[in-house]
Amino acid sequence: MDTSVFRLDGVTKRYGDLVALDNATLEAGANEYISFLGPSGSGKTTLLRVIAGFEAPESGRVYFNGKDITNLPAHERGIGFVFQNFALFPHLTVIQNVGFGLTHGKSGLSAAEIERRSLEMIELVGLSGMEGRGVDQISGGQRQRVALARTLTMHPKMVLLDEPLGALDANLRSRMRNELRAIRERLGVTFVHVTGSETEALAMGDRIVVLDRGRIIQVGTPDEVYGAPASPEVAHFLNRFNLFDGTLSGGTFNGVFGAVPSPQAIPSDRSVYAVRYDRMQVLPVSAKVSGPSIRARFVASEYLGSSMMNFFEAEDGHVIEMEHHLSLGAAQEFEPRQDYLLTWNPDQAIVFGREASR
Ligand code: ADP
Ligand code: MG
Repeated sequence: MDTSVFRLDGVTKRYGDLVALDNATLEAGANEYISFLGPSGSGKTTLLRVIAGFEAPESGRVYFNGKDITNLPAHERGIGFVFQNFALFPHLTVIQNVGFGLTHGKSGLSAAEIERRSLEMIELVGLSGMEGRGVDQISGGQRQRVALARTLTMHPKMVLLDEPLGALDANLRSRMRNELRAIRERLGVTFVHVTGSETEALAMGDRIVVLDRGRIIQVGTPDEVYGAPASPEVAHFLNRFNLFDGTLSGGTFNGVFGAVPSPQAIPSDRSVYAVRYDRMQVLPVSAKVSGPSIRARFVASEYLGSSMMNFFEAEDGHVIEMEHHLSLGAAQEFEPRQDYLLTWNPDQAIVFGREASR
């Protein structure tokens, strides 16, 4: 039995010569929160537009609730979409904006019922009391909530959100993240959330779908993706790993930090050695270490609330980041412009590479 809510099967979308989506295959279960993560231009918006029906793929099929909807018009799909640059109607009030789709569509609902539903969604997104205001009399974050409520009043079976938190400041963003999850749980529908922020993807998603140049390059839970990125590109997008180029030969990785036995390398076109920021240790230069190590100068640190990020610069100019989780104890203090020895347990590194000798 097909238990997925939606499924993409080999979807390809081109704009002229540009392949915006390259053979994308993906499945989402009911009640999931899925994050699409990828750099700008990787095809995230295109993927949402194909699912919503604003864009027809050149090849491949789209299924929703067990039905092939590839050729079904967008308004018949029952899929809600909150656009990246959502536009509200500036001359309408909050409640008029929220009820717009019901008032002007084919809902057939009475004015009283439309008002009831609109007020319910206004409450859900935390805007009770503001229903009579003009949308130019509320903040950017509140306008974002109006856009969400406007989509939710249509009772979509799935909600697509295109970088919904991008325009908000950091505080508001983390509050909205929690609220979006809570809203999704109350409604019991699948949410697909597009973001360019790895922090957001790791925080929000039951599963993360990583896109690069139109391809889905990894799908997994945040723990799976963070713990075992499938390629150097994924490790790069996650922004949680120091990446070192080098060569892999005979089960040994050679990098600026020395030669390290790496029998478990993940096959890849590029030979890259990845160490998580929070797996680095900092020692005085006089320390004796048996494993890999690299000499680097302390540049600066940054307090992130639950952790401290420390930035070092190696002799070749490579910036190396070390994260200390403050739950593990007070942070080390480092002297500006002093050299230190950075080291790590090689068992915790992730090595990508193509064996040069084979
Ligand atoms: P993202 O949302 O990940 O930033 P998009 O899906 O918007 O990426 O774009 C993927 C690629 O397709 C980009 O190279 C973009 O320039 C191109 N593209 C998107 N929409 C169009 C369009 N309507 N016409 C031509 N090229 C487009
Ligand atoms: Mg986009």
